[in-house]
Amino acid sequence: MFKRKPKDVGKRSGRPPGSPNREYLDLIVLPPACPRCEGTEFTPRAQTRSLEVTGCVPGENRVYNRIVWSKARCVACGQWLAFREYQLVAAAAE
Ligand SMILES: [Zn+2]
Repeated sequence: MFKRKPKDVGKRSGRPPGSPNREYLDLIVLPPACPRCEGTEFTPRAQTRSLEVTGCVPGENRVYNRIVWSKARCVACGQWLAFREYQLVAAAAE
């Protein structure tokens, strides 16, 4: 299980009901190529879910405030791949 309890990850109220009530901060950098065949062409990604969470991408001097999970298949070998994307989304005026 990947579960860490950071001290402060910028908790926000207004999380939509049904969203996971945890902070996932274990980060996996997107693979530049299919780990199985090293192909670099993927089908269009289909978003599976997203989570509003603030953090810093490890190894990069870049902050994010949303993680988006998506899935796609490698065009070459058909392997399903799960992606995590770290986005910095401008906060809407609240
Ligand atoms: Zn592949």
